[in-house]
Amino acid sequence: MTTLYTNIGELTTNDANLGDGSVMGRLEGAALVEEDGRVAWVGEAAHAPAADVRVDCHAGAVVPGFVDSHTHLIFAGDRLEEFVARMAGTPYDGGGIRSTVAATRAASREQLHDASAARAGALFAGGVTTLEVKSGYDLTVEGEVRLLELARSFTNETTFLGAHALAPEFEDRDEYVELVAGAMTDACAAHARWADVFCDRGAFSVEQARHVLSSARAAGLELRLHAGQLADIGAVGLAVEMGCASVDHCTHVSDRDLAALAASSTVATLLPGAEFSTRSPYPDARRLLDAGVTLALATDCNPGTSYVTSMGFVIALGVREMGLTPDEALYGATRGGAAALRRGDVGHLGLGARADLVILDAPRAAHLAYRPGANLVARTVLAARGQGE
Ligand SMILES: [Zn+2]
Repeated sequence: MTTLYTNIGELTTNDANLGDGSVMGRLEGAALVEEDGRVAWVGEAAHAPAADVRVDCHAGAVVPGFVDSHTHLIFAGDRLEEFVARMAGTPYDGGGIRSTVAATRAASREQLHDASAARAGALFAGGVTTLEVKSGYDLTVEGEVRLLELARSFTNETTFLGAHALAPEFEDRDEYVELVAGAMTDACAAHARWADVFCDRGAFSVEQARHVLSSARAAGLELRLHAGQLADIGAVGLAVEMGCASVDHCTHVSDRDLAALAASSTVATLLPGAEFSTRSPYPDARRLLDAGVTLALATDCNPGTSYVTSMGFVIALGVREMGLTPDEALYGATRGGAAALRRGDVGHLGLGARADLVILDAPRAAHLAYRPGANLVARTVLAARGQGE
């Protein structure tokens, strides 16, 4: 089965072997052929081979499907009142997570699934084709397993985040960390690919995070870390030390940790929806890029600090508020996100990649940043998955 996407206004492949030779791998007047879920041919529309199905892109731009590499999709309730209070001047300190824990524990599996499916649907409608989903709003052994099982119904990129906040039953953080690194990791490892810790001022310390991540790694999980959102406590350096695939937030990073990050393969995932929604200073994306760090952009979709379900909006924030060019932001939202998940098969449209793509109702990809607030996604295409996947 083959599908020809033709009459593409501007094709972004993120593959320097294609098109103009830039990292964006751009082509004008292009066509793309998908076969069994993979990109089989890219070139000038006039030279496109015959295919079983033909899709007219109506001169719209086509970009790789967005890779949202950081979400807290599975939760119940909302934190509207906290948001309203914050906009009236109350600063964010991470404390509101407990109210979502209470709501999530009280919700049935079906309620949680339906609320999360609505958010996943919004992300997909906005062009997301690969999604990471974390646990972290139950904080008991059985409850975290339940959240990861639910997460698995949306994606294979599931992340165990038992060390998201101190569970309400505990007063001693070290005691809770022992539970997370022990029984909770043992129970959750089979349901997750990744482990993560909220390592920041007022959350878990570098030492506690190192303990949780070490146990997770021993249980076969790969690692990522929340770091430098609220303060620099050396968490970015820990992410590099532990070989994390991604270190997320990175607003507060010392020069020393920045140098270590730049010399590593750890991706910095920036989540400008969080700064927008907490009215906080944005990370210095330019400083990170100039140092040679690979950037990803993601929604951080969560009820407390970034109830954002649009990657187009995140791209616009990256450009307007963090000084990225439209191409840098698009790359971060696609290939950068893929790197943050150690995925070579998504985030680009090179030959052999998954043919997950977004057809825009705009002639060029830069319209995503140029026209914030509009959903410019005409169609999100999740390629048919081949055998054995
Ligand atoms: Zn997060």
